[in-house]
Amino acid sequence: MNKRGHVLNAIVLSVGLACLAHPTLDAATVRAAVAIGVPVTLGALIPDVDTAFGTHRKTLHNLPVLVLFFVYPHYFGNLQFVWIGVATHYVLDLFGSKRGIALFYPFDRAEFDVPVGVSARSRYAGGLMVLITAFELVVAAALAYDLPRRLVASGLRASGLA
Ligand SMILES: [Zn+2]
Repeated sequence: MNKRGHVLNAIVLSVGLACLAHPTLDAATVRAAVAIGVPVTLGALIPDVDTAFGTHRKTLHNLPVLVLFFVYPHYFGNLQFVWIGVATHYVLDLFGSKRGIALFYPFDRAEFDVPVGVSARSRYAGGLMVLITAFELVVAAALAYDLPRRLVASGLRASGLA
């Protein structure tokens, strides 16, 4: 995926997350959109820094880097939400390119990809970005409304196990 796609995905995803966090759609929603949107957008740009420093799609396109950005706020009290941008960058690069990313770098240099990915230059790249963003928001909404736990509980009730 190109930088334009990464930035648009990050902005739309952040606005959606802000709406989930503050569904009142008032000043609190706008404030949340800015509070979430800036770090998520910066996070979405970070992985491609490895085009200049390191090996592209390896050095900053891997799970250890994602874990680092996920854990960092817990220790230092800042950079919250940056990991969301990094994670969505990985998702877009997996689906929005024909080349994979080295998820387990530096332990393994193999690049992982999905067979349904489209080239970043494809005319379908923009539509794919919209679909991925929509899917990410559906997942975020399901988590925000505690859907997985509710589904398990209702499945257990229906099967007579609870
Ligand atoms: Zn990338």
